[in-house]
Amino acid sequence: MAISFDLTGKTAIVTGANTGLGQAISVALAQAGAKVALVGRSSMAETEAAIKATGGESLAISADLSTLEPIERIFDETTSWSGGADILVNNAGIIRRADALDFTEADWDAVMDVNLKNVFFLSQAFGRRLVAADKGGKIVNIASLLSFQGGIRIPSYTASKSGLAGLTRLLACEWAGKGINVNAIAPGYFSTNNTEALRDDPDRNAAILARIPAGHWGKPEELGGAAVFLASSASDYVHGTVLPVDGGWLAR
Ligand code: NAD
Repeated sequence: MAISFDLTGKTAIVTGANTGLGQAISVALAQAGAKVALVGRSSMAETEAAIKATGGESLAISADLSTLEPIERIFDETTSWSGGADILVNNAGIIRRADALDFTEADWDAVMDVNLKNVFFLSQAFGRRLVAADKGGKIVNIASLLSFQGGIRIPSYTASKSGLAGLTRLLACEWAGKGINVNAIAPGYFSTNNTEALRDDPDRNAAILARIPAGHWGKPEELGGAAVFLASSASDYVHGTVLPVDGGWLAR
């Protein structure tokens, strides 16, 4: 069997695709041949243009993932456009920073709703459609180093990303036998909106940089290869793993 990273003929759904890691993942999947449905609450114009520039095809789907309301519509719109999704990348996520002693219920719920609850129910809707159609598929969850480590001042984020690692393993156990691969990527420290506060703090920035063996903040495009791998047939026997793409941070 020839090993293939080619995604021609496949359709991917990527949440939070307007910027940062979601944008880079969308472009990488399109470059590998997939049609990409770009899901989120902001304009997808920049990502659409980047995909078009590489000769790829995309569809923007407007959806606020803080509630479960848009989930069925996301799959319906994707199906009308391309016949259905083969790949789901759960990338949308938020972070709230405050000391654990001061952390509010609102900041707890907001993060858990987007980062964990919505990911489960999107995956469930996707899994139900795949099983009904008797076909396999790929789920790639965007986890974090906080799936392995504690962090500071981000209690709901750490809980959500640690929970996401567990959810990845549970879904892999339930669905591997159905031909559905469920895996996650744990990005290290990448230059995006999510980490702007850290890069703006000279002390934190220097401490983080000093601990990264690769010696630089991740560039979003450096995540694309791992996403294509986990979305392609090259990873057909990979189930329930959380793959760090972190410049060596966890090896330290
Ligand atoms: P980002 O803030 O630039 O992107 C977050 C994306 O999620 C945006 O597209 C945003 O619109 C979307 N989003 C947030 N809430 C939403 C909602 N209610 N409905 C729809 N879309 C919503 O940050 P990023 O770094 O690109 O983050 C992408 C993912 O990567 C997140 O899950 C984040 O936790 C994870 N991550 C990032 C890093 C990093 O270093 N940047 C490290 C580890 C994990």
